[in-house]
Amino acid sequence: MPAEFHFVEEVNKAFDAAAAFVDASPDLLAQIRRCNSLYYISFPFKRDDDRIDVAHSWRAEHSHHRQPTKGGIRYSQHVSGDEVMALAALMTYKCAIVDVPFGGAKGGIRISTRDYSPAELERITRRYTYELWKKNFIGPGLDVPAPDYGTGAREMAWIADTYMGLCGAELNALACVTGKPVTQGGIRGRNEATGRGVAYGIREACEIPDDMTPLGLSTGLGDKRFVVQGLGNVGYHAAKYLIECGATLVGVAELSGGISAPDGIDLGELIDHWKATGTITDFPGSTNLERANDALELECDILVPAALENQLKAENAPRIKAKIIGEAANGPTSAAAEAILRQNGVHIVPDVYLNAGGVTVSYFEWLKNLAHVRFGRMEKRFDQSAHRRLLQAVEAHSETKFSTAEFAVAARGADEEDLVNSGLEETMVLAYEQIRVIQERHRDEMSLRTAAIVCAVQKIVGTYEEMGIFP
Ligand code: GLU
Repeated sequence: MPAEFHFVEEVNKAFDAAAAFVDASPDLLAQIRRCNSLYYISFPFKRDDDRIDVAHSWRAEHSHHRQPTKGGIRYSQHVSGDEVMALAALMTYKCAIVDVPFGGAKGGIRISTRDYSPAELERITRRYTYELWKKNFIGPGLDVPAPDYGTGAREMAWIADTYMGLCGAELNALACVTGKPVTQGGIRGRNEATGRGVAYGIREACEIPDDMTPLGLSTGLGDKRFVVQGLGNVGYHAAKYLIECGATLVGVAELSGGISAPDGIDLGELIDHWKATGTITDFPGSTNLERANDALELECDILVPAALENQLKAENAPRIKAKIIGEAANGPTSAAAEAILRQNGVHIVPDVYLNAGGVTVSYFEWLKNLAHVRFGRMEKRFDQSAHRRLLQAVEAHSETKFSTAEFAVAARGADEEDLVNSGLEETMVLAYEQIRVIQERHRDEMSLRTAAIVCAVQKIVGTYEEMGIFP
């Protein structure tokens, strides 16, 4: 009988390990750890055949030390109060690590999206939004949802539209949710952001010789072979950008099955095959695995769990062969699994840092909505003219003559997507440096996860102290 998984307890264990290194009063630390509010809502909705069904849903706001609170909304059969409270706590730490000025939140509806038509999902989403609004659990300055497992831009558009219907006269109403389609106030680059951030974070981790040498690996991604669990928005984009950075995809696990191909998998071809056949199995050049999650145990350098929590547990941890685990999902490694993996020398790049790219770009979207102007709109052409004048001056004062193509590339001003990606990369690089500095001070005692949460808690303590609420 597998041990029951209590997600809040797992997150709190990680918090306690970090809190031991933070110079703050135990009372304040206990306050930071605690979930501030949990709202449970059950509501009826009409099925397409006129039957009435009841949806069970939650929204947790973990910390109000900064407002609004921020975090995704997931649709899955596993959603519970325990799950959203744990995920909301992870959001608090995540936002602090990447200096995004939000408290953490998370919500969810206990449904399997495959059981409902788009029209039913729309009714469920709109009613859930209304219920959140009724209790002040949504608003640009209160609590700002975003996509998560089982939701995407479409659901965010429904949320924004419902909120606009209720509060459209509020100047900043569109900032009530992020991850919206670009045509509805979204930002370019948000959809890819979490996966892109995962790739940047893994790239940073692989750049440090002191961390790679004990694993018997060289630095860089060029010679790294990786496996991804979950090809949803996060897993797909993480894989895509890891491949762009030179790594080779050698295994995939999905709901429909698992495959392995030591010589490498062409991601684009795999997606085409998946669309055509409805499964990733029987992909030419790969071997089907008996069970999808056997992919977790494949021979590789980097394992990227990008699905749900509690995938690496005490039971399968001893069989993990990857040397690096890049936690693209939230909470994929249980505390018991982590103890085993660490003993086996596995380097874990933790979720609270690694998947923070999503909320980072959500922050940019929220800022864009408050500013009511697209990033780059004011300066793109000005920068372009300045670059052009500079290039012309170089040509005038030297033998250099740029080709038309070189000129165009060098003179180009940044557009919204360039700025978003640049802000995301800078955020991921800087946060890794900060975490690594903390870990370096406590070399053998501290995992990267503990260092990341120390980094978060120190900043949150700082915020409370600045507010003067706690001496
Ligand atoms: N659901 C994502 C996460 O877990 C994004 C949250 C957000 O953008 O607010 O980080």
